[in-house]
Amino acid sequence: MTDELIEQARARARHAYAPFSNFRVGAVVVAGDGTTYEGANVENSAYGSSMCAEATAIGNAVSHGVRKIDTVVVSCIDADEPGYPCGNCLQLMVEFGVKRVLVDGLNGAVEHSVEELIPHGFRLESEEQ
Ligand SMILES: [Zn+2]
Repeated sequence: MTDELIEQARARARHAYAPFSNFRVGAVVVAGDGTTYEGANVENSAYGSSMCAEATAIGNAVSHGVRKIDTVVVSCIDADEPGYPCGNCLQLMVEFGVKRVLVDGLNGAVEHSVEELIPHGFRLESEEQ
């Protein structure tokens, strides 16, 4: 299952739009019911408008009604070592209760808990959760 998710994320990275950084990233989100949702980084001439692969995958899942995410797989196909999620994406993971993060580079994947990567994530309880 893990190998399949990594391959799925790497396949999505091949569709990334990264003409500025040439750092293609794909992501797969595994929802609480096991359904997967994919995303890739989408860069922009106005750099601040760029979106991370994890963010597009989480947005994809949420737009399908997902509110609980178990796992996020992030794969960079342009680096030997894993490219870790940025602080913004880690905070998105906190919001949707992500438990496990697989961070993948060409040399292989490393598994972390979200708590390891963002031990003091911000939480503001809402009625929807
Ligand atoms: Zn990010």
